[in-house]
Amino acid sequence: MASSRSSRRDIETATNSPGQAGARDSASRNQLSGIPEGFFIQWFKSHGRYFPWRERHVTPFGVLVAEILLRQTKAEMVASCWPELVKRYPSPQELAQAREGEIWELVHNLGLGRQRVLALRAVSSELVRRFKGQVPASLEELLSLPHVGLYTAHAVCVFAFGMRLPVVDSNVIRLFSRLTGQQMKKDIRRCLVAWEIAWSILPATGAREHNFGLLDFAGTVCTSLYPACISCPISCYCVYHACSNKFITNSSSSRGDDT
Ligand code: SF4
Repeated sequence: MASSRSSRRDIETATNSPGQAGARDSASRNQLSGIPEGFFIQWFKSHGRYFPWRERHVTPFGVLVAEILLRQTKAEMVASCWPELVKRYPSPQELAQAREGEIWELVHNLGLGRQRVLALRAVSSELVRRFKGQVPASLEELLSLPHVGLYTAHAVCVFAFGMRLPVVDSNVIRLFSRLTGQQMKKDIRRCLVAWEIAWSILPATGAREHNFGLLDFAGTVCTSLYPACISCPISCYCVYHACSNKFITNSSSSRGDDT
């Protein structure tokens, strides 16, 4: 059962590929059709960022913990505390039983007050109570967890379970907005056109590397304040670049909380 925080249409748009969902408005997709297939995979191989939670041996719970920590927080800061957190609490059982102060000690530097501690404990407790301490390999079941929204559920499905799904965060929305020249909603749940575009550029294989590349490209090249248009390898497909920065785009530079 999907969470009431995400509407049925949100989930259907985010989870159905264009082929499954039937006819869609193809205008936005066509605008990006010139970008070579596999571009973001290739870009990731040469320019992608390394973070410990991206290693293949990381458990689904480790991936989920990382995604919760990454909300509204720079990845470099998360990298300073994630290894110790998952070493001390490698499973939902251990994290659910941990004292709040012990978790706080490890994550307080990331900001957001106690929110993160409460989120980590709540999601861990729910995994123990409803899923025998396992992270479910199902988008709908992930969405039924507290503090898990569309971005996080998709990220866990792709990065932990290797599913072929798109991943959209606020930086990706900004990138798509600039590439297409369309104003887009900042809200990850409600920006349906961004999910549609993300589906349209998803390659048949390599969803993991493609999404890492897309997230990194949006977060490090097409940045909020100073997009690197001069050296951007896809500037020839970009409406924003062609129109000399005419468009007002999403100015958020953090991943944000999509719950
Ligand atoms: S040309 Fe500039 S605005 Fe367009 S995608 Fe590249 S970095 Fe972003």
